[in-house]
Amino acid sequence: MIKSWIEIKENSDFSMENIPFGIGNIPGSGPKVCTRIGDTLIDISMLSKLGYFDQLGRDEDVFDKEVLNPFIAKGKSFTCGVRTIIFECFIHGGASENESSLLNERALYPADSIEMLMPLDVGDYTDFYSSREHATNVGVMFRDPENALLPNWLHLPVGYHGRASSIIVSGASIHRPKGQIKPADSPLPVFGPTRQLDFELELAFVVGKNTSLGQSVPVAEAESYIFGLLLFNDLSARDIQAWEYVPLGPFLSKNFGSVVSPWVVTMDALKPFRVPGPMQEPEVLPYLRTEGDNNIDINLEVSIQAADQPEFTVCKSNFRYMYWSMSQQLAHHTVNGCNIRIGDLYASGTISGPEEGSFGSMLELTWRGTRPIILPDGSERKFIDDGDTIIIRGHCHKENLRVGFGEAVVTILPSN
Ligand code: MN
Repeated sequence: MIKSWIEIKENSDFSMENIPFGIGNIPGSGPKVCTRIGDTLIDISMLSKLGYFDQLGRDEDVFDKEVLNPFIAKGKSFTCGVRTIIFECFIHGGASENESSLLNERALYPADSIEMLMPLDVGDYTDFYSSREHATNVGVMFRDPENALLPNWLHLPVGYHGRASSIIVSGASIHRPKGQIKPADSPLPVFGPTRQLDFELELAFVVGKNTSLGQSVPVAEAESYIFGLLLFNDLSARDIQAWEYVPLGPFLSKNFGSVVSPWVVTMDALKPFRVPGPMQEPEVLPYLRTEGDNNIDINLEVSIQAADQPEFTVCKSNFRYMYWSMSQQLAHHTVNGCNIRIGDLYASGTISGPEEGSFGSMLELTWRGTRPIILPDGSERKFIDDGDTIIIRGHCHKENLRVGFGEAVVTILPSN
């Protein structure tokens, strides 16, 4: 672990090797592009005012903004340059005593004292369905255990167009959504609050470069269009979903709210944790063929915290299990000429691993409610209760190097 002149606790997600980007609401001056080292938040717009990035060119101020989009739009040579300058400034011995006291006074804040805002203006959001374990579990539960995967699944990354307007940042609360539900013992639907509110453990990648309508992103170049990743909780109402999804897919069961972590971790920071993906058999069509380490070893976990109770971890999974890689998802998404825009989010789909404790939704963990989870207070969960807080965390580690995402947290309130 590289040392900084800022304190970094041993298990911090926010090591010197991370330097993620987010939007902090700085007291007295408003939303600014920020980063975080250890438990310290750094106002990058102030570093810019102090001249730290003059060598990268001083045209438009992309740090004094409400979202990261204009910063991301400057391109990877600029955003990587900013990361390098921050790294050199905050590395142990990188700043003189005068410099560090000036920075302390003007640009540094205790991270827990700053409200983090939704970091992106998300134009479009797509949700994939790329975990073979998840798709298999769902297929076994709802269709045919013998033919759990539908015939297309091994040939293309299945996805659907989601809703961008209801993506919110960690720390928010959501009222239990209402909708049409068809009870098993009745031919007619009823209207009311969902009784099967669920989370989906996912990661989402952020598009870093626009394409024009008609242009396709080749799979080998796809990563140059990806700026970074954040944690993503695709909240789902299973009873509403089961009734509405035929034949066009999820609709109101998914668009009432999805939750992201406030920090976007760059693809560069994730480089040391690259791993090969699973073998793809049958062989995929040429436009989806890839080589090399296309997956990332990211440890993920989900905890549930009932009101006034301790947290309880219900799932431990890993992003490396994904059958379809991000590059394949983006190549497939654009193969017909569909254009993509900076700030778009492409979520992985529920990330389930091979073992029971690694399933990425309550639907799978409790096997459609048939095997409830017992929380430390003795209460049972088939799905999520009112007052429950859902916490997703993710981090990579290798020897003594750690790069993490922090948290995506949401509390469920009763229906209003
Ligand atoms: Mn999903």
